[in-house]
Amino acid sequence: MIDFSLTSEQKSMLEAVDRFLANRLPPEEVRRRDRAHVPPYDLLPDFAELGILGLPFDPAYGGLGESWLTLALVQERIAERAYFAASIVSRVVAFGGMSLMSYGNEAQRKKWIPQLIAGKALFALALTEPQAGTDASSMTTRAERVAGGWKIIGRKTWISDAKGASHLVVPARSEKGSKGTRGISVFLVPRDAPGIAMTVLEKVGNNCMPSFDIGFDDVLVDDDALLGVEGKGFSHILSTLHYSRASMCAAATGCAQAALNVALAHARERVQFGRPIGSNQTLAHRLADMQMRVDQSRLTLWHLAWMISNDMPCRREAAQAKVIATEALQYVTQHGMQILASAGYGIESDMQRMWRDARLFSFGEGTNEIQRDLVARELRL
Ligand SMILES: Cc1cc2nc3c(=O)[nH]c(=O)nc-3n(C[C@H](O)[C@H](O)[C@H](O)COP(=O)(O)OP(=O)(O)OC[C@H]3O[C@@H](n4cnc5c(N)ncnc54)[C@H](O)[C@@H]3O)c2cc1C
Repeated sequence: MIDFSLTSEQKSMLEAVDRFLANRLPPEEVRRRDRAHVPPYDLLPDFAELGILGLPFDPAYGGLGESWLTLALVQERIAERAYFAASIVSRVVAFGGMSLMSYGNEAQRKKWIPQLIAGKALFALALTEPQAGTDASSMTTRAERVAGGWKIIGRKTWISDAKGASHLVVPARSEKGSKGTRGISVFLVPRDAPGIAMTVLEKVGNNCMPSFDIGFDDVLVDDDALLGVEGKGFSHILSTLHYSRASMCAAATGCAQAALNVALAHARERVQFGRPIGSNQTLAHRLADMQMRVDQSRLTLWHLAWMISNDMPCRREAAQAKVIATEALQYVTQHGMQILASAGYGIESDMQRMWRDARLFSFGEGTNEIQRDLVARELRL
């Protein structure tokens, strides 16, 4: 049976989110943060208090034991106001917490999940290297065994939120001479460990999510920094991707809805040749196409969230959800810019921010080409 109605818990959670957004993130504050490049780390304690960071986790770890759909609804609602705020929730819940739940040991879960849920810890994924982007398995950062732990040597790049995080999740080659996906292990490295050097990278969008190039110069970590099974790190990372893809789909859907709202309002209000520009069929059809893509994104998201909530295998659905939602967002912002024309091009316009930010998402977190490969592979051509 398909039931799209929301539970009373989901409704109250969304009402609480709306109140929070009205108080802490009104539109002018979102614009101010974007202009001043202010990351959203200060919002984590508020998100914790609202219960958002603990939504899908077992009450044994301090979570609410809610469904993934509830998390998706909340992320979508937050992203409708500010993409950067939804993305920090994703980093804590879909990446940090679910990495521990998927391949951390019990001691690591007990230690870190309550801190993540309380907004006191933040993990950044340090996977990409200068020569290893799409082909992440060609990484050369290595981890060498030393007495009582490991020594990490190498370089990672484009790592989001690395400086604001409490820890970096670092996949590194732990088996000497190994190639490809074999012999890689994952380490939880304190961000301020001696030997770590970070340089901020300048970029065109996502101003509130700073990116860093990171050098690891003989960085020492203890044995208990190893996450999961030694040598199985690559499959560990792959095992959590559907969570972050669902989160990205939720955030992209919310942001696409926001961009559509801005375009619709402008099409109704802006008058040229004596009538609202939206009354021209060319623009009306474009807006109709934008609406259809946003709805498709949302349905894809809800289906994926339902699959995750029911522990169903969903590699293909997660990959296609990521493609559908990120390309819907790019379609809506691209055409939104055309509909707003000069009104969208000014730095005060919300459309230009969403348009700049959206450009990342068809190649960030696994390029859409690779997602299509993944979908095609499951079609057994
Ligand atoms: C703002 C920002 C934030 C980021 N945050 C993080 C982060 O927090 N952590 C992290 O680890 N990384 C992060 N990244 C890195 C991001 O994940 C990579 O940019 C992405 O994986 C693509 O790698 P690349 O840029 O090196 O592109 P490349 O791998 O050089 O690819 C270039 C193009 O070639 C295509 N291509 C490559 N191989 C194939 C193939 N076999 N078939 C078809 N097409 C192919 C790609 O799809 C892409 O279109 C971030 C990047 C940016 C810009």
